[in-house]
Amino acid sequence: MKKNVFKSGMVALVGAPNVGKSTLLNTLLGQKISITSKKPQTTRNRILGVLDQPHAQMVFLDTPGIHRSNKPLNQRIVNLALGTLGDVDLVMVMIDVALEQQEADALLLEKLKSVSTPSILVLNKIDLIPKLKLLEMIKSWSAVHEFKAIVPVSALKGLQMEELIQALIEALPLGPPLYPPGTLTDMPERFIAAEMIREKAFRMTGAELPYAIAVSIDSYKEEKQGRLVKIHASINVEHNSQKGIVIGKGGVKLKQIGEAARAEIERLVGCQVFLKLFVRVQKNWTKDTKALQRFGY
Ligand code: GDP
Ligand code: MG
Repeated sequence: MKKNVFKSGMVALVGAPNVGKSTLLNTLLGQKISITSKKPQTTRNRILGVLDQPHAQMVFLDTPGIHRSNKPLNQRIVNLALGTLGDVDLVMVMIDVALEQQEADALLLEKLKSVSTPSILVLNKIDLIPKLKLLEMIKSWSAVHEFKAIVPVSALKGLQMEELIQALIEALPLGPPLYPPGTLTDMPERFIAAEMIREKAFRMTGAELPYAIAVSIDSYKEEKQGRLVKIHASINVEHNSQKGIVIGKGGVKLKQIGEAARAEIERLVGCQVFLKLFVRVQKNWTKDTKALQRFGY
């Protein structure tokens, strides 16, 4: 690429839950700004990360998984994700190659064909399958849609990251940086803190609460000239039974969640953190559109 040419753009990262979107962002950006989980759907909001290259800048939107559902919350998630595809400069579609049957998501492809936004297909988790199978997959996927590029990667092992970055730059439009170089994310720390608490709550309850938890930050205060951050946060659940699961016997579970989240938030903000967690029952919040808006979905 010519030296005086700069490329930039918004890149939407789409794919089913668990394909490795958050992992890829973390690997590309070299810092944990997006949460990962073995359970699907922990990324409900768009998290913005910025990758600076010598002659390019890309701004990633970590969109939630696009999939069919009849639940109001899930529909909102799908609409949010689909709606972004026409507004961005590039769509990065991610597939998990290790899953037995990976059919093209009809809804997603339909949308991609209806917008002029170019797209790149990322085949993730290549560390889990033989090369021959991968070649077959590349062949069949190239028949499904006219992708600008098909890039096999392992987000977890950091394989093929340079190739992916080059393919992204290739597909980006010419333009100046959208953010001052060095901006890692434009998400406020309190938002990321909420994401971290939610991730811990998901991981540590082990219960089937994939859509039942929302975290809200009630207060976020810097004290002692920025050497201490005091956070009060609420874990909102739908039913009393879920409240019991999150709190645990004698409050043990909630304490573990708080400890783990606090440690991670401390690493993020780089100072001491005081974290106080509450658990609130908000009946049917996943069905109530008003409540959804309050939680920022
Ligand atoms: P998301 O829901 O699409 O954001 O997926 P996550 O990033 O949370 O990843 C889901 C799971 O897949 C996690 O357990 C990751 O560690 C795992 N994972 C992600 N990328 C890879 C990869 O390249 N190889 C392997 N073996 N596992 C991966
Ligand atoms: Mg994710």
